[in-house]
Amino acid sequence: MTIGVLAVQGAFIEHEKMLEKLGVDCFEIRKSSDLDRPFDGLILPGGESTVMGKLLHSLNIFDTLKSKILQGMPVLATCAGLILLAEHLTEDSTVHFGTMPVTVKRNAYGRQLGSFYTEENFKGLGKIPMTFIRAPYIDKVSPEAEILATVDGNIVGARYKNQLGISFHPELDESTAIHELFLTMVKGASSN
Ligand code: GLN
Repeated sequence: MTIGVLAVQGAFIEHEKMLEKLGVDCFEIRKSSDLDRPFDGLILPGGESTVMGKLLHSLNIFDTLKSKILQGMPVLATCAGLILLAEHLTEDSTVHFGTMPVTVKRNAYGRQLGSFYTEENFKGLGKIPMTFIRAPYIDKVSPEAEILATVDGNIVGARYKNQLGISFHPELDESTAIHELFLTMVKGASSN
């Protein structure tokens, strides 16, 4: 199993370290020729969604990644990555991949003081650590998407088919639970 990690900006190295800890091969997606390599799952890291969105186009990797997601490649999208997947953004007409039927509010906790740590339940995983950094949350999910976690009544994790969207940063904490959940999705998809 090999995971492609989008590595044009943001917190990609921490995801790679998580995968290494779990004994899973990965490589960085930085340019269109990287997409010639076979891979079974995709990680869209946190960072700055506006910058990542622009780079996806200027580096000519947007279309290929979008079609892989639409074809069912499992994706773990954290924070800015979740913003890239969202079909709608709250009070913002920007759409990046737009493959996940959720409405996401950027900088939902405020821009400056919006960073915090908590421990909350995540469906199927129990209580896990959650580190939020200028994080979005999910304002609305369509009925086909499943809510997996809420913090103070706000949705911070959801799944739609092959897409797992998380508004916190699981790669920054000790727990490997979210990455393991994602790898289970990858295993399921490749055995189909
Ligand atoms: N605030 C960032 C954005 O809107 C997301 C923050 C993050 O990924 N830590 O893109």
